[in-house]
Amino acid sequence: MFRQARYDEPLIFEMGGKNTSEPQANNVVPEKLSRKKLPNIPKLTEVEVVRHYTRLSQMNYGVDTGFYPLGSCTMKYTPKIVEEIAGFEEVNTHPYQDESTVQGLLKIMYELQEMLKEIGGVDEMTLQPAAGAHGEFTGLLITKAYHESKNESRTEVILPDTAHGTNPASAHMAGYDVIEIPSENGMVSIKALKNALSEKTAVFMLTNPNTLGIFEENVFEIAEMVHDAGALLYYDGANLNAVMGKARPGDMGFDIVHFNLHKTFCTPHGGGGPGAGPVGVKKFLGKFLPVPVVEYDGKKYYFNYDKPDSIGKIKGFHGNFAVLLKAYVYIKLLGGNGLKDVSEIAVLNANYMKKKLEKYFELPHKNLRKHEFVLSGSKLKEKNARTLDAAKMLLDYGLHAPTIYFPLLVDEAIMIEPTETEPKYEMDRFIDAMIKISESPLKNYSPKNTSAGKVDEAGAAKDLALSWKIVKEMTS
Ligand SMILES: *Cc1c(COP(=O)(O)O)cnc(C)c1O
Repeated sequence: MFRQARYDEPLIFEMGGKNTSEPQANNVVPEKLSRKKLPNIPKLTEVEVVRHYTRLSQMNYGVDTGFYPLGSCTMKYTPKIVEEIAGFEEVNTHPYQDESTVQGLLKIMYELQEMLKEIGGVDEMTLQPAAGAHGEFTGLLITKAYHESKNESRTEVILPDTAHGTNPASAHMAGYDVIEIPSENGMVSIKALKNALSEKTAVFMLTNPNTLGIFEENVFEIAEMVHDAGALLYYDGANLNAVMGKARPGDMGFDIVHFNLHKTFCTPHGGGGPGAGPVGVKKFLGKFLPVPVVEYDGKKYYFNYDKPDSIGKIKGFHGNFAVLLKAYVYIKLLGGNGLKDVSEIAVLNANYMKKKLEKYFELPHKNLRKHEFVLSGSKLKEKNARTLDAAKMLLDYGLHAPTIYFPLLVDEAIMIEPTETEPKYEMDRFIDAMIKISESPLKNYSPKNTSAGKVDEAGAAKDLALSWKIVKEMTS
C-alpha cells in the first residue's frame, strides 16, 4: 500500500538501498560537526504542506487580486511580460562576471540611465540605491561632498510638513539637523522658507506634486531662493507617476532627483521590497556619484571606477538588477508617449475619485490634484467613529484600505491613489463603499470577512513571532 513519506523520516539511501532514520555521516561534513539528532521540524505530509501554503497564498491581498489605492505607494499593476523577462535565465549572471560576458546587461543599465535622465531632466545618474530612502541618503551624501568641496560646512536640511517620513530620517542619518517648515494652502509657505534659509542650509528637499497631490506652483521661485542661499534643491521623485512626459524635475530647477522604480516604473512592492531608487544629478554634481557608473566608449560598455571625488560605493554589487530590468522593460514597452498617457490617466483617475468623494468627506485645500488626493475623516467623529474604522470597514468590502493618518498635517487623513491601471468599475465600487461607510461608520470596527481581524499593530511590530515554535510558546 502506498504510504506518503513524512518529513521526520528522511529518505537517506546508501548505495545498496539501505534506508535509515539515523542521521548519516558523510565525508563532506566532518564527523564532529555533523548532526547527532534529527532536527525538530513539524511532522507533516506533503499534502498538508501544500494545503498550508496554498491557504496562506489565498489569505494574501495584492494588486493581482483587487484595488489597492495606497496613497504615495503607487500600487499599479505590473504587466506579466515584465516579470517574465526579469526571470529569463540569460539575465541570471554573477555580478563578478567579466564585463565582456555581460555586455547586454550593461547595455540595459546604460540605456536605463539614459532614459531616466531624459524623464527627469538630469545629466548624470547612478542605479545603485536599493530604495527611495536609500536614494535620499545617497543624494544627501552627494550634497555633503559638494559643500565640502567648496570648503563650506552646512548643517541644516529644510523640508516642508508635507514631506514623506523618509526625508527627515535620511537627513538625520546623513548627520544633518532637520528644519521643518509649514505649508500654506497645501503648498510650501514661501515666507516660512525665506525665514528658514541661511548660510547653514545644505539642501531643501521637496516632493512635487507633494504628498497632498498638489503641484507646487511656486517651484521656480523656490528654486531661485534656495540657490541664492547657496543651497541645493532635492527632488523626492518617489511619485513621478503624476508628471511623466509633462514636466521634468531638472527643468523645475532641482539639482538632485531620486526615482522610485518600484512605484512609478512597476515592480509590485509593499511588504518591504525589493526596490530601486536611482539618483540623477545635474552636471556639476556628477563627479560625486557613487562608483562604479556604467559608461559606453563607443565600442563596449564598462563600469567606470575612476571617479576620485565619488562618495564611494553605497550598495554591494550593482543595485537590484531585477528591478532595474523590470523598469527598463516597462519603459521600452510604453515608450515616451505611453508614459505620458500613464500620467494623464493616473491624474484623471485621482480627480474622478476626488470629485465623487469630496461631498461625503472633508477635503482640505481646494486645488486641483495630480496623482493622489487626501481626504479628512474628521466628519466621522460626529458619528463617533474615526478614519481607522473606515479603513477597517473597507476590508470587509474586499477592498484594500488607502493610506491613513499620513500626511500628518491633515486631521484623520485618508490618502487615495488609484493609479492609471484601475478599471472604472473598480473605482466606482470603492467610491460606493466609501459613501456607505461615511453614512454609517461603526466605532472600533473589526473586519469579519478577512483572514485576520483587527490586529494589534504595536504588538505586531514589537512582539514579532517569526517561527512556529514562538507562536506555540506564546499561545500555550
Ligand atoms: C515611498 C516614498 C519614499 C520612500 O521610498 P522607499 O522606497 O519606501 O524607501 C519617499 N518619498 C515619497 C514621497 C514616497 O512616496
